[in-house]
Formats: sequence, C-alpha cells, structure tokens
Amino acid sequence: MANSAANSVTFPTELLIDSRTERGEGPVEHVINPATGETLCDVPEASPEQVSRAVDAAERAFVSWSQTTPGERSTMLLHLASAIEDNAETFARLESLNCGKPYARALGDEIPAIVDCFRYFAGAARCMTGTAAGEYLSGHTSMIRRDPVGVVGSIAPWNYPMLMAAWKVAPAIAAGNTVVLKPSEQTPLTALYFAQLAAAILPPGVLNVICGRGASVGQVLVEHPKVRMVSITGDVATGRKVLQAASGSLKRTHLELGGKAPVIVLDDADLASVVDGVRTFGYYNAGQDCTAACRIYAGPKIYDNLVADLTAAVASIKVGPQDEDDVEIGPLISDRQRNRVASFVERAQMVGHMQITTGGAIRAGAGFFYEPTVIAGALQDDEIVRREVFGPVVSITRFTDDDQAVQWANDSEYGLASSVWTKDVSRAMNIARQLQYGCTWINTHFMLVNEMPHGGLKASGYGKDMSMYALEDYTVARHVMVKL
Ligand code: NAD
Repeated sequence: MANSAANSVTFPTELLIDSRTERGEGPVEHVINPATGETLCDVPEASPEQVSRAVDAAERAFVSWSQTTPGERSTMLLHLASAIEDNAETFARLESLNCGKPYARALGDEIPAIVDCFRYFAGAARCMTGTAAGEYLSGHTSMIRRDPVGVVGSIAPWNYPMLMAAWKVAPAIAAGNTVVLKPSEQTPLTALYFAQLAAAILPPGVLNVICGRGASVGQVLVEHPKVRMVSITGDVATGRKVLQAASGSLKRTHLELGGKAPVIVLDDADLASVVDGVRTFGYYNAGQDCTAACRIYAGPKIYDNLVADLTAAVASIKVGPQDEDDVEIGPLISDRQRNRVASFVERAQMVGHMQITTGGAIRAGAGFFYEPTVIAGALQDDEIVRREVFGPVVSITRFTDDDQAVQWANDSEYGLASSVWTKDVSRAMNIARQLQYGCTWINTHFMLVNEMPHGGLKASGYGKDMSMYALEDYTVARHVMVKL
C-alpha cells in the first residue's frame, strides 16, 4: 500500500489472486490525479504467470461456486453491496482522485448506483424464469436449464471504473460464474479496494483482480484457454482486437463499445428542458461517457434559440478540481485524451461552416482541463458529427423534417443511445420506433436503472449490462431431455 500525505488516503496497489493480495511482478504503472497531473501511487502490473494463477484460482472456485444455490449467492451479493455502502466515502474519494471526478458526484451519483447494481443482481439471481418443461416429443420430457459459463475475464474502462466493474462482476457471480477482473491500467484503485473487501466475503477464487495494460495483461487474459467468456467495455478498436484474440479458443464475448448519441430536438420541444438536459447529459463526467448527449439534430424553427440558450448555459458550467465548491465537471482522464479532444475541435474550426460558440480551448494551469464546448452549424458528414470525441464537446446540426432527422441519426456506425425531445407523444413514439439504438429516451437522456438493459447495436457492441438480460448473457441455455 502506498500512502498519500496530501490527501490522507491509503491507496491499494496489490492484486487479488485466490483471496490473497500480492504485489504485481510486472512493470510499474504510475496512477495519476488528472486534476493536477501528479502521481498518486505506483501499481505494478500482473506478470503472465500471475494472470495464469488468477485464472487457475477462478477455475478451481467454479467447481463449488457454480453449485451454490441462488439464495446463497444472493446473500453474498447483498454483503458486497453493504460493504460498498459502508465504505462509500473511501470509494468516492479513490474514484474522484483517480478520474478527476467531482467528489460529490462520485459519492452522490455513482456509489449508490453501484450498490444498487449488487442489490439488484442479488434479487435477480433468485428470479430467473424459463420456458415450461413439457413433452415436445411424445414419450420424452424436455426442460431448459440456465447454467453458468465458467471463468469470465472482465475488462473495464477508465470513465466509470467501479460502476463498469459492478456491471460486469455482479451478474457474472450472481449467475454462478467466477471472475478475473482487469480494471483499466489508468484507473485501478477502486477495483483494488473492492478486491480487499470482497476477499473477506466471497470464497477464495470467486473474484480475482489483476492490473495492467491491455496489450500485456488484457490480451493474456483474453487468450487464456481456461477463460470461457470475455466481457469488455472499451473502444471499438479494442473490441475488435478482443474478438480476434477470443476467436482462437471460440470464447463467448460480451462487448460494450463506443457511442455517438443523437439527440433529436423537434420544433415543439420545451426549449428550457432541452437546454437543461443537454447541459447536464452532454457534459457529465466531462463528456467521457458512451451515452453522452453529444450529437444534436435541431428542427428548423428551434435551432437558433437552442444554439443561443445552450451556448449561454454551457458557458456557465463550473469546471474544476474534485473538491472545489459546486464544481460540476472535472478534467479529462489524461493529457493524451485532452489532446485528442482538442484536435477534434481544431479540425472542426478549420472547416469554414462551423462556429465554436463557447469553449474550444484547453484551460491553462495544472491538470488536464478542457473548456465545455458547443459547435454550431455542423453538417452530417463533418467529422465532429460522425466520430466519438469522448470529451465535453457537443455539436448542433439543423434538420428540415422528422424523416431526415431519423435518417441522419441512424446514419452512424454506432448504435448505443439516443433521445427525442418533443411535446407530441405520437411523433416521439414514431421516431423512437425507427431509431437503431439500444436505448431511446423521450424528453430526457442518460437515465439508467438496473432493471432495464443497457447495450448497443452495430459497432457499439452486443452485450447487455444490467437487467435480466445481463443474467442471460452470463448463462448458457441448456436442454435436458428424459425418456419416459
Ligand atoms: P480502451 O478500449 O482503451 O480500454 C478498455 C479496457 O480494455 C482497458 O482495461 C484496457 O486496458 C483494455 N484493453 C485495451 N487493449 C486490450 C487488448 N488488446 N486486449 C485486452 N484488453 C485490452 O477504452 P477506454 O479508453 O478505457 O474507455 C473509453 C471507451 O469505452 C470509449 O470508446 C467508450 O465509448 C467506451 N465505453 C463504452 C461503454 C458502453 O457501455 N458501451 C461504457 C463506457 C465506456
């Protein structure tokens, strides 16, 4: 464990393998505070031998864990939920330091959602339903079983490190699988802290946590022959690599990849609600969110007012470090990510027809801050409309009629999240039914609940997180037939 005098937080730095913490034997990764650029602690990554031992431990644990009753697994998930809740402030402090998130948002938004995820799957584990058993061939009775898959390799991104870990670990172990979790090399702290708590609750080997980079540790995990399923949230390019690596041993895969959410604003929408919604849901977590409300299509009559009011609203977003009073958004995760965001805006600026109506600049001083930005006058084929920026940047494009808005919204390689804003419920439903997205919100955006599935279409992937659908993804349907 490393200690930070400045923040009086003890940083967990050790892996969890077979219920024991141990130091990684691979190269050291510096874990950075993005609000200052300073190193919080060093976390050595797992060696290939440690990855292998974690998988072996998970495979051994699977023998008995897969035979526990749903009620027994449910009890342990409830204990995990309570342990997270009891230590909410430590989780929020680690997440906010490691990601630059406002502390109050980490504590008030993310930790309750994480706790609820474990509680939801504690209940869901006991409520799996299936087709009735019956005689589909005369003289034979058939039944469906849903059984766990085996060892699951779970790989999480840096934008919501513990929330994404919860979305993966909770349904996997609820269904009777065992897990080797690899958090992002940039944000391992909450997963490592969770590992310590879980070691006191779960039987040895049910959850193992290893750290390291994608190429050196993630790839080894994905290729391991004893890993039966890989679940990853990350970039589309990473998803492709994982699919290729998993194909060697024909693993089941669960992919949650990028997004570029269209926000269709019809002329009759309530302007104040749209402005308030996009100000919140386009910039939350500094826009580093795969569902961010980042690609606005505005009707011809509302367009000018929307550009003016959104510009003023976004200019009022308070950007700052984790503990500043009333801070709304923090820095980007790294200097690299900030440069990537800045280069998108620079390229948009160079195209004559777009206007940066607010923001568009790196904030001087320490940390990786970028001004919340609105880009008006964007056209359907502009890069800023088509590619995922993953930063506090929202584009606005004017459309002429509903059909064009739907066509442009669907004209994307992504298919994760979308929204429609109007007072006319018929038009809203007509547009919602045509959108090729895993989720469509009407007169809101971004709101998720554990009872409903979250996942994409097209290049956004095909796994479902949360809900009974996640439990299905982490189980295999089997047919058992008895000759009477
Ligand atoms: P990333 O793809 O760089 O990394 C994600 C994880 O994959 C990390 O743990 C990384 O170490 C690992 N990884 C990288 N290469 C690997 C390889 N070859 N084999 C195995 N593992 C590998 O993504 P990121 O930058 O951490 O996160 C941002 C991306 O995640 C964005 O594109 C965003 O849209 C996406 N995202 C999607 C969802 C969703 O629900 N669909 C949610 C959050 C983030």
